[in-house]
Amino acid sequence: MKAQATPEQVKAVCDHIEQLGFRAHSLPGAQRTAIGITGNQGEVERGNLEELPGVAEVIRVSKAYKLASRDAKEDNTIIRFPGTDATIGGNDIAIVAGPCSIETREQAFTIAEKVAASGAQFFRGGAFKPRTSPYAFQGLGIEALQIMAEIRDAFGLRIITEAIDNESLELVVEYADVIQIGARNMQNYSLLKKAGKTRKPVLIKRGMSATLDEFLMSAEYVMSEGNYQVILCERGVRTFADHTRNTLDLSIVPAVQRLSHLPILVDPSHGTGKRNKVIPMARAGVAVGADGIMVEVHHEPEKAWSDGPQSIYPEQFASMMDELEQIAAVLHRRVPRGIHVEAATA
Ligand code: PEP
Ligand code: MN
Repeated sequence: MKAQATPEQVKAVCDHIEQLGFRAHSLPGAQRTAIGITGNQGEVERGNLEELPGVAEVIRVSKAYKLASRDAKEDNTIIRFPGTDATIGGNDIAIVAGPCSIETREQAFTIAEKVAASGAQFFRGGAFKPRTSPYAFQGLGIEALQIMAEIRDAFGLRIITEAIDNESLELVVEYADVIQIGARNMQNYSLLKKAGKTRKPVLIKRGMSATLDEFLMSAEYVMSEGNYQVILCERGVRTFADHTRNTLDLSIVPAVQRLSHLPILVDPSHGTGKRNKVIPMARAGVAVGADGIMVEVHHEPEKAWSDGPQSIYPEQFASMMDELEQIAAVLHRRVPRGIHVEAATA
């Protein structure tokens, strides 16, 4: 649409597309709104569309992923968290920190307090854990979600947690601010579609052997259902290298940014699996241009119920924040310190 197109003109174009039997996806950007068309079998007749008031041009997107593509929407997607100043995908670098799993209320609050004091805006913690072994700790489930909701109330931190199936997805939607889809579920298309039917931001972690196209197609699944708030996350892929748990593929950050308007985070914890490599790779993540860092933090990692060896101490997290702030400044970006939450109006 033209930059000066009115909301009524945008709506009229969407209505026209729906009348043709296709699906219209309105994608507002900083300069102008793009309207994606899906559901068409062959090429869409452009003649009539081009003549509708407010339309600037009709572009054919030949890539398999359309709504996720920069061809469909030029401006970066910025995800906002109502009632707060936190964003993901803008100039600010989002810092997501917390334990691998919520173990006890005390453990979660201890870690949340420390990461909040160092300026994190987002808290992560597993409630439903996709574990390699069925005998390993599977997560506290709803109890963990309730603990994280209390953490949001106490510290303002927005909550990111994983859904592993339809049941857990419904619960995560109810309690959390961002639905995480884990690496093992990146190609669980029914789960992606279900997340696409919600209106909560969805963070998709890259599958352990997913190509860039497959990664973007997972985002497309969510967007095709009308949920355009998608965040990608690189968390390492499987290679022959055995000095780390996975190989953190940082080059996917500029590769994604070239092809897609969606934000991308880097997770150096699962990406390396080793505490001593987490901070160097977090620094590199900011340097390469990631829109945020997701990191596992534990005050007693030697006692953690999952992923202790890759969890950094709260003191390390504090100094990492100072370093990331300086690296971000070189790129004219900002690591915000703390989240501002508007007072609730009764
Ligand atoms: C996690 O973030 O806790 C997690 C299980 O990550 P991944 O899906 O990347 O393995
Ligand atoms: Mn973990």
